[in-house]
Amino acid sequence: MKDIATVSRTNEILDKYNLKAKKKFGQNFLIDANTVEKIAKNACDKDHITIEIGPGIGSLTQKLAKYSKEVISYEIDSSLIPVLKETLGDLDNVTVIEEDFLNTDLGKASYHDEEIVVAANLPYYITTPILFKLFESDLKIKCISVMVQKEVADRFKASVNSKDYNALSVIVQHSYDVSILMNISKNVFNPKPNVDSAVIVFKPKTKKYVKDEKEFYEMVKMAFTQRRKTLFNNLKEHFDNEKIKKMYETLGLKDSIRAQEIDLDTFIRIYEVLYED
Ligand code: SAM
Repeated sequence: MKDIATVSRTNEILDKYNLKAKKKFGQNFLIDANTVEKIAKNACDKDHITIEIGPGIGSLTQKLAKYSKEVISYEIDSSLIPVLKETLGDLDNVTVIEEDFLNTDLGKASYHDEEIVVAANLPYYITTPILFKLFESDLKIKCISVMVQKEVADRFKASVNSKDYNALSVIVQHSYDVSILMNISKNVFNPKPNVDSAVIVFKPKTKKYVKDEKEFYEMVKMAFTQRRKTLFNNLKEHFDNEKIKKMYETLGLKDSIRAQEIDLDTFIRIYEVLYED
């Protein structure tokens, strides 16, 4: 089967169906066979179903099928469904579902009770909502490998004291080990996006650290409400001054500390002290 992720094959398919990439659906098609091969090989294995969001014309899907037990792909754009029937028609382990992934009821998904992997070149306009839908679902996720804007990847991966470190970094790193598989040049897409991209990989941590994750996440968001303010000033909107002072004493925090100077372990300690019964 011919690679779909090449300049000539992609143009051939788009011309045949008289299609242009749609901005409103964040369509940037991958046109480099090595890139899709590497993403799929790293993400999938023959023991697991792979869930893909946004197959486009099937460039990545074709390779996901090669390395997975089965692939289930969600595509919002109805004009791509006949294209996918042609490009992936010979693959008997691929199912395309015409649906907005953000509206999908994951609780009723056929793979709900199985361990799955997720792999995608995500539409950039909804990267964070898609990822949070996955993070907050009760799916048994082994691994998520997705192409995102480089600056979004940097925020998820950011370390304490760096400019990109924010509530999102702390929240995600509490539950996932985060790594960057590779940086991707603008030149491997049609149309070429304005921004650089990266493939980011999330692997769930086996140990959960806090007793109520939602409460912890809310507290982390409070701490980052205004970056230039001290932790104390951000927290005092929500907690009693005496309680915060006691927490500072217990943990030996300096008065001037700001959220961006606090690592994950210290955030967990802050939570434990502020929320102790
Ligand atoms: N996987 C293809 C590739 O790598 O060439 C296409 C990737 S393109 C960046 C994003 C794809 O997601 C497009 O096919 C777009 O139509 C689809 N998409 C956008 N929003 C979606 C949504 N809410 N649910 C499902 N698919 C969506």
